[in-house]
Amino acid sequence: MEKTLSLIKPDATSKQVMGKIIARFEQEGLSVVAMKMLRLSKERAAEFYAIHSHLPFFGELVSFMSSGPIIALVLQGADGVKRNREIMGATDPKKAEEGSLRKLYGTNVGENAVHGSDSLENAKKEIAFFFDLSEIYA
Ligand code: UDP
Ligand code: MG
Repeated sequence: MEKTLSLIKPDATSKQVMGKIIARFEQEGLSVVAMKMLRLSKERAAEFYAIHSHLPFFGELVSFMSSGPIIALVLQGADGVKRNREIMGATDPKKAEEGSLRKLYGTNVGENAVHGSDSLENAKKEIAFFFDLSEIYA
C-alpha cells in the first residue's frame, strides 16, 4: 500500500468535475484517506512547485494554481503513486491516453485538471505540505 498526493486543479474545480474525478479514483481502487478544499496563495503555489522555478512556464503555473480553489487529496492503494499517474495520463491533455483524467478534463499543458506525486519520496513531502498526520485517516 502506498499513499500519494493528488490535487484537483483550479480548472477542474471550476468545470464542476471534482465529483467525477474523485469517483474515478475510488472506482480504480484508490481510497481517499484525506481531503480538503483550499486556495493557494501565490507564495504557497511557488513553494509547492519550487523544483520548476527555473522553467519558463513557472510564472504562469503559479498564477494558475493560485487562481481559484483546489482540492488536495491523499490517495491510498496498491502501487498508489504509479496507479495515480496512470489514471491522470500524460502532462499534455492532447497527448494523454484515451480515458485518462487529463484527456477527459484537461484544457492544455498548463491547465491539466490534476496533479499527482511522481515518486514515493515526493509523495511523502507533498502530503506533508498539505496535511497534518491527524488529518489522514489511514
Ligand atoms: N506545465 C506547464 N507547461 C509545460 C509543462 C508543465 O504549464 O510545458 C505545468 C503543468 O500544470 C504541469 C506542471 O507544470 O502539470 C508540472 O509539470 P511536470 O513536468 O512536473 O508535469 P506533471 O508531473 O504534472 O505531469
Ligand atoms: Mg511533476
